[in-house]
Amino acid sequence: MEAKINEIFSSIQGEGPVVGYKQLFIRFCGCNLNCDYCDTEFLQGQIYTPQSLAEKIISEYNLETFHSISLTGGEPLLSAEFLAEFIPLVASKTKIYLETNATLSDKLLIVKKYIDIIAADIKLASATGKNTFAQHRKFLENCDGTETFAKIVFDENITQEEISQCASLGKEFGIELILQPKMGIDNKMSVSSEFCNQILDKLTDIYPNVRLIPQVHKFIDVR
Ligand code: SF4
Repeated sequence: MEAKINEIFSSIQGEGPVVGYKQLFIRFCGCNLNCDYCDTEFLQGQIYTPQSLAEKIISEYNLETFHSISLTGGEPLLSAEFLAEFIPLVASKTKIYLETNATLSDKLLIVKKYIDIIAADIKLASATGKNTFAQHRKFLENCDGTETFAKIVFDENITQEEISQCASLGKEFGIELILQPKMGIDNKMSVSSEFCNQILDKLTDIYPNVRLIPQVHKFIDVR
């Protein structure tokens, strides 16, 4: 059993409710989606077995000092079988945080019992060019019993229908929604603060458990 890992690095989580915590990021190669705004470099990588990856991070990092290990990508659930072997080797040392595009609901079931926090993207067709709402609903059904929040990256094209769909997913699964303005190439928000406020108001009118958090790591200039 092997997986291709693009990079391993220590940094500060810049998104969502655990923003500001130190995490060890393990970025997996490959993704099942092809979002219009994707800027993630994940094609090049190094091959690991579950054992060699665990040995590497245990020998190079003091895992107890991290809030959690962030499994990211690409899409880490493409390597679900690998994760089911890898996570038990390190789970006694820190928490496991899964960053996922929330479309591979069957793969989630392979690793769910090892995951402490699920950061599930809800992708908007207006920002990604693809409509994946049906897949997100099925995925969130399978998150039941595990701490989960949903991140929604939006830009100026977000529609009222998308706002309503996000609110209904939040209500149905009782999860917190994190609105995240898409960033421009200059590492500034691609939408105005006024627009952010309008979208937050529209969403909280329907479902109040929502926060707006920009990508903080871009402001503090870390990865
Ligand atoms: S899900 Fe994430 S990694 Fe995959 S294409 Fe979309 S933005 Fe890129």
